[in-house]
Amino acid sequence: MDGSGTSDGGDGGGSLRPMDAEQLRECGHRMVDFIADYYKSMETFPVLSQVQPGYLKELLPDSAPNRPDTLDALFDDIREKIIPGVTHWQSPSYFAYYPSNSSTAGFLGEMLSAAFNIVGFSWITSPAATELEVIVLDWFAKMLKLPSQFLSDAPGGGVIQGTASEAVLVVLLAARDRTLKKHGKKSLEKLVVYASDQTHSALQKACQVAGIFPENFRVVKADCSKNYAVAPEAVSEAISVDLSSGLIPFFICATVGTTSSSAVDPLPELGNIAQGHDMWFHIDAAYAGSACMCPEYRHHLDGVEKADSFNMNAHKWFLTNFDCSLLWVKVSHVILFQLG
Ligand code: PLP
Repeated sequence: MDGSGTSDGGDGGGSLRPMDAEQLRECGHRMVDFIADYYKSMETFPVLSQVQPGYLKELLPDSAPNRPDTLDALFDDIREKIIPGVTHWQSPSYFAYYPSNSSTAGFLGEMLSAAFNIVGFSWITSPAATELEVIVLDWFAKMLKLPSQFLSDAPGGGVIQGTASEAVLVVLLAARDRTLKKHGKKSLEKLVVYASDQTHSALQKACQVAGIFPENFRVVKADCSKNYAVAPEAVSEAISVDLSSGLIPFFICATVGTTSSSAVDPLPELGNIAQGHDMWFHIDAAYAGSACMCPEYRHHLDGVEKADSFNMNAHKWFLTNFDCSLLWVKVSHVILFQLG
């Protein structure tokens, strides 16, 4: 892009050079203006894009341009070619799936984060990033009244994942490796996972990635007389049957706020079952977790003290841009050493 944002004679032929600070300032202001105008007029767009598949190929060149474009030309392209193909998730008329609750304050934060462009894979790669993450996850844990074992000054702690799907994969791998350590590497084919038929499909995908045998993924039918929560007796029964067949039950996933039915599984009872069989107990509160900060909904997390891991998405109900999924574990070295 020609950072001057001015006409360059019409051929877009400025030299290839990065913007200097003053050009960045000017272009940045214009970008913020563009976004503010978009937010102001968002309600005038149809929420669902009306384009047909492949529409964009018709509108863009076959190969990458080899000269920079002006900012004006870029804004024109966005208005004419991109916005018609956008589904407007932030529109007040958007009611599909989940609200993707970013906020204008949230994406200004994203802008700063993009400017720093930190790759925070260890403390030294940017101490502030790691320390801020730990502190904010502790704040969240306190707001959710999670047991103290989930705080960073205990053996556990919180860490940001991309999505709830990644979070469940991470803890499933940790649980798998913990169990294989106990029963021997060759036991993989015996490991069994339990969840209700209301559980998000992310768990089944995680099982595939983790090498859990498909026939060892137990989908326990939820109880419609209990608002689609799973019955602990049904989980217990499935575990007994598997134990008597020589299998190794190792992972229970409960949900607080299932995707299609908003069911809340009975955490204390499922937690007892998991502890009784030395199984990993994960709680997926992807969208409803945020609500549990309200005192009147906190009781839905009663039983979380029995969990090995707990997850909620800040990107669903917490005014944070996608993707930002918060995962806490009770014993963080299990994750670090086994996956590290
Ligand atoms: N779990 C529950 C209960 C959900 O509602 C969702 C998403 O809708 C997920 C998991 C998956 O979330 P993500 O898109 O962050 O992987």
